[in-house]
Amino acid sequence: MINNVIVAQQIEEVPFENIRSVKGEMIISEDFPSYLVDESKISGGHAEYLFFPNTEEEIVALIKKMKEEELMITISAARTGIVGSAVPFGGAVLSLERMDSVIGLGYDEDVRKWFLRVQPAISLDEINHIVRLKKLELNQSIPQEGNWVQKFEEEHTHYYPVDPTEMTASIGGTIGANASGARSFKYGATREWIRRIRVIIGTGEVLVIPRGKYNAIDGKFIVKTSKGDYELKLPTYKMPGAKNAAGLYTKPDMDLIDLFIGSEGVFGAISEADVWLKEHTPQMSNVAFFKNENDALDFVIKLRTSEKIKPEFIEFFEDHALTLLRNKQKEEPKFVDMPTISEDITTAISFDLPYSEETLNEYFSEISIMLEECNSSLSNTWSAYEDREIARIKHFRHAVP
Ligand SMILES: Cc1cc2nc3c(=O)[nH]c(=O)nc-3n(C[C@H](O)[C@H](O)[C@H](O)COP(=O)(O)OP(=O)(O)OC[C@H]3O[C@@H](n4cnc5c(N)ncnc54)[C@H](O)[C@@H]3O)c2cc1C
Repeated sequence: MINNVIVAQQIEEVPFENIRSVKGEMIISEDFPSYLVDESKISGGHAEYLFFPNTEEEIVALIKKMKEEELMITISAARTGIVGSAVPFGGAVLSLERMDSVIGLGYDEDVRKWFLRVQPAISLDEINHIVRLKKLELNQSIPQEGNWVQKFEEEHTHYYPVDPTEMTASIGGTIGANASGARSFKYGATREWIRRIRVIIGTGEVLVIPRGKYNAIDGKFIVKTSKGDYELKLPTYKMPGAKNAAGLYTKPDMDLIDLFIGSEGVFGAISEADVWLKEHTPQMSNVAFFKNENDALDFVIKLRTSEKIKPEFIEFFEDHALTLLRNKQKEEPKFVDMPTISEDITTAISFDLPYSEETLNEYFSEISIMLEECNSSLSNTWSAYEDREIARIKHFRHAVP
């Protein structure tokens, strides 16, 4: 049965004074300036309070206090966002950086998938590090009696596939932004990888939202709280078909979890999330170079329509981006490691391919034919299989703003 009514849960409160906090615009701007900016480089950020809670209970206490003082709250994670949404303009900054642990690992038997339960500030890098190396304690199984950690040890390597390039981004921030990145071509954005969240809302209560439990009826949800019932009416605009991250997600019968994903923290602070994990297959990273942009675009069409090759993503670097990279190669020592891009190249196409030992040769001959049909060649292409080499190619992409 479809259910659009969610009941907020009360949790214990702690004294406001227990929370690690900094008060005063002057001291925050002088001693904690990094909390007033993000990668957007938007200037003018300022705040009266800066909070570093350790627990949900502390978040509840500070939300209630800010409500009393009628101050708005800006949630801040790794501040790698490029739209300025973590930059405060007055009020309080709620930094969740102390809540950065793995809570546990579980296996959802209904859909036969592994998931990791984490606190919001853990970075995507750290999630992958822990999952790949299986650095989990036996008592971290969810539920405990499932012995999932032990069973996971015997599994193939897994990972969290969302990759917005900047892997220091946190899970909370990427849910806030519905971050996507190159791999969304094949795997979709963050939305597709979130199983369940806990959110602390403005009443200081918690919503526990698993995917598939609450769906909108007649374009609305009802949130029952200690302060009364709230009707959440969904926006009536139609989502564009093209990839985008603008505005709240909306769909007539949508899942409640999707309203929170991509909402930039306007409904509350995500304090916990379950993320799906995927089995890892070896990847080959490639960057193919072209003298002519039309040839590069023809190559993209071939990659997208190939029967044999199914890239994880395809990304396009135009002439200005390559000029910028060439200049960086000259200026920054860390780029010395990269091969030089010759001056007659105007366009590059970057793509990752999952492969196995059996398919590798076949893939190379297919790519070689496609490249030659587009006036390029394997000798004009960088390819990497080992982690270190793959990291170099990633570095190349990361360097383009
Ligand atoms: C070099 C570079 C390349 C990038 N490439 C891509 C790309 O290809 N695709 C893409 O999608 N993005 C890209 N990004 C941006 C990326 O999406 C963000 O970096 C990331 O999603 C933000 O995570 P964060 O932890 O830094 O969050 P922040 O920037 O700190 O916050 C982001 C938003 O989430 C909210 N928020 C943070 N934590 C929570 C929480 N616990 N609960 C509720 N709301 C919260 C904040 O209030 C803010 O609105 C790129 C960034 C960089 C620097």
